[in-house]
Amino acid sequence: MNNNLEALRAELNYDKTNKCVQCGYCLPACPTYMTMGKETHSPRGRINLVKMAGEGKITDLSVLEEPLDLCLGCRACETVCPTGVEYGAILESARAAITRRKSYSIPQKAMRSFLFKKVFPSRKAMKLLGNAMWMYEKSGVQKLARKSGLMKKMPVHMGEFEAIVPPAVSPGERSSLPRVTPAKGEKKYTVAFFVGCVMDAMFRRINQLSVQLLAEVGCEVIVIENQTCCGALHAHAGELDQSKELAKRNIQAFSQIEVDFIVNNAGGCGAMLVEYDHLLADEPQWADQARAFTEKTRDISQVLMLCGGVTGKEGPAERVTYQRSCHMTNVQKVTTEPVQLLKGLPNVELVEMAEADMCCGSAGIYNLVQYDASMEILDHKMKHVKDTEAVTIITTNPGCLLQMKLGVERENLADRMRVVHLVEYLGQRCGLTV
Ligand code: SF4
Ligand code: SF4
Repeated sequence: MNNNLEALRAELNYDKTNKCVQCGYCLPACPTYMTMGKETHSPRGRINLVKMAGEGKITDLSVLEEPLDLCLGCRACETVCPTGVEYGAILESARAAITRRKSYSIPQKAMRSFLFKKVFPSRKAMKLLGNAMWMYEKSGVQKLARKSGLMKKMPVHMGEFEAIVPPAVSPGERSSLPRVTPAKGEKKYTVAFFVGCVMDAMFRRINQLSVQLLAEVGCEVIVIENQTCCGALHAHAGELDQSKELAKRNIQAFSQIEVDFIVNNAGGCGAMLVEYDHLLADEPQWADQARAFTEKTRDISQVLMLCGGVTGKEGPAERVTYQRSCHMTNVQKVTTEPVQLLKGLPNVELVEMAEADMCCGSAGIYNLVQYDASMEILDHKMKHVKDTEAVTIITTNPGCLLQMKLGVERENLADRMRVVHLVEYLGQRCGLTV
């Protein structure tokens, strides 16, 4: 084997493809195979394409681009695979290999560099973005843009997404997440809270409620200033080297303080954080720190349950359904805690939807860049949602939250169905406000 092929194999994580025995057990679990019905859009087909590239049978990696771009990265295939194929690692390395060889136009390059290097990793830039959204909303420009029909003419369906973005918080509220929030009553744990980039800019109230809920159940909550984006968006876009840099920055930032847990409230971020040890596996000098970081990482529902759950107040009777985040189910393996928390609330009836583990089609920015494929998956999901006759859909990830809101809009159900994050719902049922 020549050196180039050897190097390509390492770059593609080729060795991991050999674990696939082509049995096809993963096919019914794959949303893109189920909706598109093509072998190249199934886990088995995608693994085979990467394998063929690693064997020199495919020399032009752009052949892999469309099948891999259409993958949601939901990793449902990993959960059902009997031989333990690490599909996520294969997907990420193949996407990074394609990105390294791709020639982007100058504006594309500039935009990618701006977003991935300057915006997502910078809390200051995300804060500015959040403030700009607030200005857009409060200045009347939003109303004008909607009234004039301008939003309907925006590219990549931006108008549809703009309509479901939650109300922005004011710059005053934005600066109020305290560095230390003491536990209410006897302290059970000291936790560091991971604020995220999108969560911090667009879902600030959910972050504020998360801190309140954690304090309510007995956690002292610390918010470290120099934390950064988890790197998930970068990894999904093939910018693996930048993901690694962000992982190192977070590991360093959180190692400054001694805490029991590092807590996040976004399924996608949490999945990235719990895999920092895998991400940095080829850098032995980071191994111990990365392992220590991942061992402490928890979804908020896990910590709330460890503290004995939340005490909901007697509220109106309500039927709800829970849309599982793929990354929480298939990567973090957190499945029972959100359900236990909801079942513990008085007067709340939780109805599970059919195919609850199937992705909603959000998958980072998949719904923006693969709009048609995403909507086909969402429409299928909404059939099951409607069958539950729930009035509230509960999610644990910002992407799922927006996607389900879009589903509700598409089905004209907004007058009788709402979508909320688990933390918002628990906060409401416990009488917390922000
Ligand atoms: S990924 Fe796993 S389940 Fe799918 S074909 Fe390969 S071995 Fe079978
Ligand atoms: S990650 Fe999801 S969409 Fe991609 S191959 Fe696996 S099951 Fe299919």
